Amino acid sequence: MNSSLEFMLEGLEMIWAPGAEAMKVQQAWGVRSLADMPTALKRAGYEVCYVDLPDRVSGFAKVIEGQPHIVLNRAKSAEHLQFTVPHELGHHVLHLDASRDPQPGLPSEGFAEFQAHQFATLWILHLANDKEREDVLGQNPEWLMIGFISLLMTAGAIVIPLIAHLWSSLNGLLSPAAQK
Ligand SMILES: [Zn+2]
Repeated sequence: MNSSLEFMLEGLEMIWAPGAEAMKVQQAWGVRSLADMPTALKRAGYEVCYVDLPDRVSGFAKVIEGQPHIVLNRAKSAEHLQFTVPHELGHHVLHLDASRDPQPGLPSEGFAEFQAHQFATLWILHLANDKEREDVLGQNPEWLMIGFISLLMTAGAIVIPLIAHLWSSLNGLLSPAAQK
């Protein structure tokens, strides 16, 4: 029982960790709305710059000479970039911060994207301003997909260990009888 419960909790923690991290940073920085973002980023030592990038790239996160940079595609709309900023911040916090505990192996690129998206989605969902939240999420339909995948993974993390537990208790019940 304990091992399947632990397995389940570990699975849930892994799935929701990026979202929990987003809320932790937001709280530590005292960010309550999108308008708080530029000042909060600057205070935390981030440099945000706007450059020409290929159309498929909204932005990227990079540490340049020890300073975290969020580089944005200046051709994208303000609403679009309001999602890109927390996404790239997610990469910094989750994947690029060398001062954090060493991570158990860097996630694959696809999984890192998923984590940064979840970070950004929770960042936006947690804003105090309903109007801003709806505007940004309306512009960035990915969040629906991320929420859906997180829920599916949550269901998997609960259901699979539960089945394993039921299966082993069933075997435990049946096997003594079978041996008699
Ligand atoms: Zn990304």
